[in-house]
This record gives sequence, C-alpha cells and structure tokens, in this order.
Amino acid sequence: MKSVAVIGASLAGLYAARALRAQGFDGRLVIVGAEHHRPYDRPPLSKDFLTGATAGPGQLALTDAEESAELDAEWLLGTRATALDPHGRTVLLDGGRSLTTDGLVIATGATPRRLPGPVPAGTHTLRTVEDAQALRAELTRGPVRVVVIGGGFIGAEVASSCARLGHDVTVVEAAPLPLVPQLGEAMAEICAALHADHGVALRTGTGVARLHDGGTGNRVTGVELTDGRQLPADVVVIGIGVRPRTDWLADSGLPLNDGVCCDAGGVTGLPHIVAAGDVARWDGIRAEHWTSATEQAAVAARNLLAGRTVTTHRSLPYFWSDQYGVRLQFAGRRLPTDTPRIVEGSPDDRSFLACYERDGRTTAVLALNRPRPFMRLRRELTRAAQPATA
Ligand code: FAD
Ligand code: NAP
Repeated sequence: MKSVAVIGASLAGLYAARALRAQGFDGRLVIVGAEHHRPYDRPPLSKDFLTGATAGPGQLALTDAEESAELDAEWLLGTRATALDPHGRTVLLDGGRSLTTDGLVIATGATPRRLPGPVPAGTHTLRTVEDAQALRAELTRGPVRVVVIGGGFIGAEVASSCARLGHDVTVVEAAPLPLVPQLGEAMAEICAALHADHGVALRTGTGVARLHDGGTGNRVTGVELTDGRQLPADVVVIGIGVRPRTDWLADSGLPLNDGVCCDAGGVTGLPHIVAAGDVARWDGIRAEHWTSATEQAAVAARNLLAGRTVTTHRSLPYFWSDQYGVRLQFAGRRLPTDTPRIVEGSPDDRSFLACYERDGRTTAVLALNRPRPFMRLRRELTRAAQPATA
C-alpha cells in the first residue's frame, strides 16, 4: 500500500494515523479534516472548558508540532470530503479537488441531532470547540436560566457545569429516567439524583414542543414542553444525541446503517476501506465513546495494512463521565436483565462500586468516585473476556 487517506482529523483519525506509522506504514499519509484545527480533545468541552477551568483551546490539543513532524502526514484542514468512489479509490473534496488513495480510513465522527422547527439565538448544541466557546460566552455574562434538553451525557455534564457557574438549571428528558439504556434503571436512578443534590430540576417523560422567542424574533425566551408546561429560558442547550457523519458516503455504495457497517475489525465490505470511532458500526454496534475510538483506530489500521481482517477489537466497552464533582465509570457488556449489586461504598454517599451480575457472573462494573477498585475490576473483566489461548 503506497498511500492512505484518513478522512476526519479528530480522535479516531489521529489514532489511526499514529497506528499506521507505528505499524510500519511509510507511504504517503494524508489527513483530511473539515475543522480548521489539528485534533483536539472533546471531553473537556462539556466540563472544565465550559466552566473556564481549562483556560484556552490550546490546552485541548491532542498532538503537538513534534509529533506532527514524526507522523510525516499531509494535513488538509478546513477541507470536507464530499463523496467517495470506492472502486476508483478517489475521494472528492470540497472546492472541486480530489484525492486518489490506495487505502482509506473513515473517521468522520458524528454531529448533534437538532430539534425540528426554528431555533432562536441563545440555543446551542455542543460538539466543537467553537460550540463550547459560544456557550461559554453566554454563561459568563451573569446568572441566567438554562434549560438543557436531553438528560444523556451532554445534558448531565452541561447541567453540572452550569450549576457550578451558579446558573438556574432545568434538564428536560424524554425518557422516564435518563441513562437507563447505559446503566439500567436502578443505577440510572442514583445518577439522576445527582441533579437534585445540586439544585438542578429534572423534568422527565416529556419532550419539547417548541422553543419560544417571546415574539421578538431574536432570542430564546422559553421552552414549551409536550405536556404543555412552559419553562422560561435565557439559554437553551440541546443534547439529544448524535447522528454519524456518513452524508458524504451516501452514493458510495458502502453499506450504511446508522453508521458505516464494518466487521469486528473495522473492515467495510472492501478490504482497502476501514472505519473507526463514532461513525463506525462495528459488528452491529456503534460506540460513541473516547476509548472505543482510540482502540478501534489501532485495530482498523492493522487490518487495513494487512489487506484483510487479521485482528478484531475485543476490549470491553468503557466510558467515564464527570458530573457534579463525581467521576462515573462504567465497563462491560450488560444486558437489561443483569442485576446490579453494590459491592463497596454507598449510593447515599455518591461513592460506590457496583457489579452487574448474570448467573453468578460479573458482566459489567459501575463506579461513582471509586477509580482504583474500578480499574482493578475492569482489568479482571477484561482478562475474563479474553479467549483462552492454546
Ligand atoms: P469526532 O471527534 O466527531 O471527529 C470527527 C471529525 O471528522 C471532526 O473533526 C469532523 O469535523 C470531521 N469530519 C466530519 N465529516 C467530515 C468530512 N466529510 N470530511 C472531513 N472531515 C469531516 N467520551 C467519553 O468516553 N468520555 C467523555 O467524558 C466524553 N465527553 C465528551 C464531551 C463532549 C462535549 C463530546 C462532544 C463528546 C464526548 N465524548 C466523551 C465522546 C468522544 O469525544 C467521542 O466518542 C470522540 O470524539 C469520537 O471521536 P471520532 O474521531 O470518532 O469523532
Ligand atoms: P445521548 O447520550 O444519546 O443522550 C441523549 C438523551 O436525550 C437521551 O436520554 C434521549 O432519550 C434524550 N432525548 C432525545 N430526544 C429528546 C427530546 N426531544 N427531548 C428531550 N430528551 C430527548 O447523547 P448526548 O448526551 O447528546 O451526547 C452526544 C454524544 O456525545 C454522544 O455520542 C455521547 O456518547 C457523547 N458524550 C459522551 C460523554 C461521556 O461519555 N462522558 C460525555 C458527553 C458526550 P432517549 O434515549 O429516550 O432518546
């Protein structure tokens, strides 16, 4: 393979580029990114960056000049891929340019879902550093009423940051309880209680009918819920999930289904095209977490260079979230029927370790503010999940 193009210059793209070089690829490496920045870290955007504890965008950088030189890549930043001809091995770029490549890594991530209807000023989504800067600017002008739509990860973390800054915060969640798909009902209930601990109102089981601008036509003044209630708002943050960035692949013929479909090694239907990170549906599952993006990138790079699937991604799913001074960590593969059992600490103290069990076996582990025992159990689970070697 003489050339590889990585489309998407963020976490998965950078880790794929690193892995390609680490695994001996010495051909032409081109990294195409729609954003104007070199890869930066998104997790702080809803946490310390929003509260101002992380001073500036420079502190978010995932790579530096020295590494960039070592990677010896051509960076096409501020450049969007608009189409792919997989058999001609050509990527069309905006501005009418094109790029021909032997191998391709698809790492175009995801973009926030939007509410239908008009969106008045003062309404935000959060994915990029510019999104975070715009929201941060609104939050530093003095106490405001913030309505956060969606009680998932973005919702909980933004609500926590806003509460820390002294704002009046309400979270609106369509489901009866947030984070149930990830944590199950019992544990999700404990995590939802963190909102009330910090004076944040949680309105569940209701969607949003519309955003109001008070007839002014400019700024948001309130949120009307589907149950008829009205919430006054100066700032609205929408965190209702993401959709994978596959728009540019629509006519490529690659199998797409809420993401780029690939096998358990990131290989698409064509061995010279792999996918990793939020955009990729690996073996039927699309993970939207930091660790998955980095691990998948390394595996996908290896398979791309091998020209077939020689390795698969076996790590346990893992994510963390920081909310209200609590570090929440989860690892494993739980089924809705698995039973959580507290093995250390107490939910009342917001500090505990819980194991999810099935037939006497631990399938997953959740910790609130218990990083050390959590990491030990995570390692044990990882070992148990490895197939026995001959
Ligand atoms: P992305 O980071 O979305 O990057 C994709 C890149 O591709 C973007 O730069 C995009 O502009 C570019 N792109 C898109 N389309 C094109 C195109 N056509 N041509 C060229 N470039 C294109 N995960 C955790 O596990 N823990 C956390 O605490 C956590 N916090 C988070 C906080 C926030 C605010 C956000 C937004 C995410 C958080 N995540 C967290 C999730 C984690 O950041 C993502 O899983 C990770 O960023 C995925 O990386 P990626 O490279 O696949 O996609
Ligand atoms: P998310 O975690 O999928 O949560 C979205 C939440 O919004 C869900 O609970 C969803 O409920 C709810 N919802 C959907 N439509 C709604 C509506 N119209 N009104 C009210 N609630 C609605 O997505 P996210 O929080 O937006 O996060 C975006 C991405 O960033 C995800 O990929 C996430 O993994 C990532 N992220 C991760 C972390 C972390 O891992 N710590 C932190 C921040 C962001 P239903 O499930 O019932 O639809």
